[in-house]
Amino acid sequence: MNEIYIFDIDGTLTQPRQRMDRAFADTFFAFCQRWPVYLASGSDYPKIAEQVPEDIIERVAGIFPCAGAEFWQGPLCRHADDHQFPQGLVALFQSLMITSPYPHRFGAHVEKRTGMLNVSVVGRSADHKQRKAYRAWDDRQGERAAIAKVLAEAFPAYEYAVGGDISIDIFPQGANKARILRSLDRLHPNAAYRFFGDRTAAGGNDRPLAEALWARGPKHQVFSVNDCDETRRILDAIAASGHRIAHEPLPNQPIDIARSVIERLTKPTNTPPVLSRCGGSVGGTDVGRFEDIGRA
Ligand SMILES: [Mg+2]
Repeated sequence: MNEIYIFDIDGTLTQPRQRMDRAFADTFFAFCQRWPVYLASGSDYPKIAEQVPEDIIERVAGIFPCAGAEFWQGPLCRHADDHQFPQGLVALFQSLMITSPYPHRFGAHVEKRTGMLNVSVVGRSADHKQRKAYRAWDDRQGERAAIAKVLAEAFPAYEYAVGGDISIDIFPQGANKARILRSLDRLHPNAAYRFFGDRTAAGGNDRPLAEALWARGPKHQVFSVNDCDETRRILDAIAASGHRIAHEPLPNQPIDIARSVIERLTKPTNTPPVLSRCGGSVGGTDVGRFEDIGRA
């Protein structure tokens, strides 16, 4: 079978916004030598180049930055599909950002990328620790999902996806990560896709691609990972298995490969949970009214 591997980057191959671990990069480079690999990220190319070592960038079959609005092969941009966003959308986000109860702002709250916007209450200038703090708070409060819901009600022509630790990606309807399949289908007719992402839950930026693959049937597989360590364990298992990963037990696996990994390999997450659009609340406040409930 013509197997094509697709990897999200942040949270799947690296810790969010961190450089790829060198030991894992060596393993991953070897993997890229055995199978066709594409990278698909919400980040732009310069950020990807900061996170992914140059040898891997040169070795992979292609890179889709900006959720697929661009397609790169090595140092060459093969395709770019930009979009002009309404000022009102940016203004609405800025008003929500200002009134968020989260007590810290670090700058760079709205970033325009090819074909998409990336917005963040805490701001992209936050350092690793500050990002982790916001992520932990947002996991409890559901602020990003709530903001996405407010924006979606006001600007329904756009999609909103929670990505990384601190931000929301915004694109024209249908112009999400799933669009990379149009390019890949042309390059690899009849391929079986294996997609690894950490944000495949409802509202996550890997969700549209996961849903597109689920809809195509069990020939394709989606691996919903918690972090890059889990990706590494699965890739080790695939490499050890000598290729076959679908619907059969892996032979001769070392005992220390977690049972959950084996289960994931033999039972890929091809049964999506009940679909729901972005939702949530901000400290119990009605997300539709988003009042300033006091920030320090
Ligand atoms: Mg990710």
